[in-house]
Amino acid sequence: AEKKKIAIIGSGNWGSAIARIVGANVRTMSMMDEEVKLWVFEEILPDGRKLTEVINTEHENVKYLKGYSLPHNVVAVPDILESAKDADYLVFVLPHQFLRSSCQPLRGKLKQGAVGISLIKGFDLKPEGGIQLISELINSLLGIDVCCLMGANLAHEVAAEKFCETTIGVHTDEQSLIFKDLFQTDFFRVTTVRDAKTVEVCGALKNIVACGAGFVDGLGYGDNTKAAVIRLGLMEMIKFAEYFYAGAKFSTFFESCGIADLVTTCYGGRNRRVSEAVVKSGKSIKQLEAEMLDGQRLQGPETAHEVNALLKAEGLEARFPLFTAIHRICVQEISPSEMIECIRMHPEHL
Ligand code: NAD
Ligand code: 13P
Ligand code: CA
Repeated sequence: AEKKKIAIIGSGNWGSAIARIVGANVRTMSMMDEEVKLWVFEEILPDGRKLTEVINTEHENVKYLKGYSLPHNVVAVPDILESAKDADYLVFVLPHQFLRSSCQPLRGKLKQGAVGISLIKGFDLKPEGGIQLISELINSLLGIDVCCLMGANLAHEVAAEKFCETTIGVHTDEQSLIFKDLFQTDFFRVTTVRDAKTVEVCGALKNIVACGAGFVDGLGYGDNTKAAVIRLGLMEMIKFAEYFYAGAKFSTFFESCGIADLVTTCYGGRNRRVSEAVVKSGKSIKQLEAEMLDGQRLQGPETAHEVNALLKAEGLEARFPLFTAIHRICVQEISPSEMIECIRMHPEHL
């Protein structure tokens, strides 16, 4: 039989870390073509070289995952259609704000029967109003079935092969088998669940909570305070899923995509780090994102905005006071110190 091909759409911090895993795994799978095409949003490095050329000669993404080699069968491709058109499996891993525009050249051009998997955390604000999951956006734009992979997976730790777990949300047994083979390693342990929407909702929402964790860190509060933010955040995540994604399984919140990703991001993530700096420096999130992340992108503030648009439209802001306060702090409507009043007066205590 003809070998199956996989492409990775996106090559930032996480895209590059996952390319190490997928690139190694396909070499052990007889059904898979060895070549993994990696779509790279082309850029010119300060020394004048193209990022794709550096990746294809030095086998390292020196801009977004410095210090870790990429397998030689991972090939950087600057044209997104060229990277994706022959793929049977498509791994989507871009900052969510760029997905809608990036996918346009792929419309109507993918292989029949191709299946996607989204590693992207966030929601899509529909031009006609309302929000949708990133998997739903990909499905609506490209007409393919889309699974998701979310977990406590800080990219630099995964690249360093430090043990972690992840959760893959699937719709069929076949997807469960193939994606487990494509992603699982000795240090990256996969659980598949049939509750894909909840997996994805968890991955998106925890980035909002992580901004809240950063704000209380920046205010000088302690670990107990942060634990309260994490707990109240988890309560709002569960409530959000119950409201908007009927059928969500409670057990999914206890997979890696739920509580574990929430904890790791509230301690070690970029959303936390930049949010802490907002409080300490008084600068805006946008400015600090540019100063601190060298091209990497935050998902929390945008996700807070997307979720707030929905909550506002539904008249539910007061039922989700933590999500609401974090959004207002992100857009500088209220000061970070109001986080404390928000958690003090949280409906969970009334
Ligand atoms: P990143 O934060 O490293 O973002 C940089 C990437 O965005 C680069 O590849 C850059 O080329 C690309 N980019 C910049 N401008 C663009 C444009 N106009 N159009 C298209 N692409 C553009 O990205 P990441 O860390 O790989 O994150 C991707 C997704 O994975 C996010 O949703 C994130 O939440 C999720 N994720 C990240 C981590 C992590 O630790 N980094 C872990 C798990 C999940
Ligand atoms: P940050 O984007 O806050 O670094 O979180 C990364 C992540 O999603 C870990 O699973
Ligand atoms: Ca967005």
